Amino acid sequence: MEGRLKNQIAIVTGGGSGIGRATVLRFLAEGADVLAVDRNEEGAIETASMAGNGPGRVHAMTADVSGDNAPDDVFALCREMFGTPTILVNNAGIGAAKPIHTTDDAALDRFLDVNLRALFRFARRGVIEMRQEGTQGSIVNIASIFGIVGFPGSSVYSATKSAVIGLTQNMAADYGRDGIRVNAIAPGLIVTPMTEKRLAENAFFQDAMIGSTPMGRTGTPADIAAAATFLCSDDANFITGHTLTVDGGWSTTKYRPLPDEPYA
Ligand code: NAD
Repeated sequence: MEGRLKNQIAIVTGGGSGIGRATVLRFLAEGADVLAVDRNEEGAIETASMAGNGPGRVHAMTADVSGDNAPDDVFALCREMFGTPTILVNNAGIGAAKPIHTTDDAALDRFLDVNLRALFRFARRGVIEMRQEGTQGSIVNIASIFGIVGFPGSSVYSATKSAVIGLTQNMAADYGRDGIRVNAIAPGLIVTPMTEKRLAENAFFQDAMIGSTPMGRTGTPADIAAAATFLCSDDANFITGHTLTVDGGWSTTKYRPLPDEPYA
């Protein structure tokens, strides 16, 4: 079914690659107008060039979401191009953390700046604009299963993603009466430029992730785009404050293949 996001105006951060790109393309196919924001200019332009002949319009914007003026600049351009956004997908993020004893202050600050501070500031801008316009909007924050389940070596990354889930729950409480829904998605292992090298080269990572996933595969950016589409559509009208895990069952099981002779 297409057209689930007809007449919607969306901002997608990190729209120049991976999950963000798939979300931009799916939203366009579903009829939304989309501002694809990324600090990687080439990536954002490439995403826009991949748009089909669907009903939605797309514009690529180059911006670092952690810049002081980024929320003002991005929302101003969105208003100018399409109108007040009705959807915000806070997706831009950085990965590949280290254990805490080898994480220096510079890395700590970098993760906090991009994965938490920028997301907070975009979300704040989003609710301010939506409330001003009386928009029944939807905000989706991209968290991670590592914000729910402890995983070796993910220290500050996990901390930022847990904080994103906490913020999502709080915002749902604060803005439900304004008709603004705020949800998070916690992706499992999705093959994107963020993960593909680690996945190809690291046997521990492959086994710990794919070996422990009941569905027996990695996720695709399209899997997350589908979840974001659902959460932003009318089908999710009564869903807010929820964190939707999209991980093939990784975080809700301790999956191991059952041996031929299981326990009695
Ligand atoms: P990706 O590296 O393919 O894409 C991230 C995009 O965000 C890139 O285009 C990058 O340029 C952009 N970006 C990063 N910092 C930015 C900044 N400061 N300003 C503007 N743009 C910025 O990675 P992805 O896997 O698509 O990740 C997207 C989101 O999903 C991230 O928040 C990530 O933490 C989350 N996530 C990914 C996975 C996974 O397995 N890939 C799992 C859980 C959560």
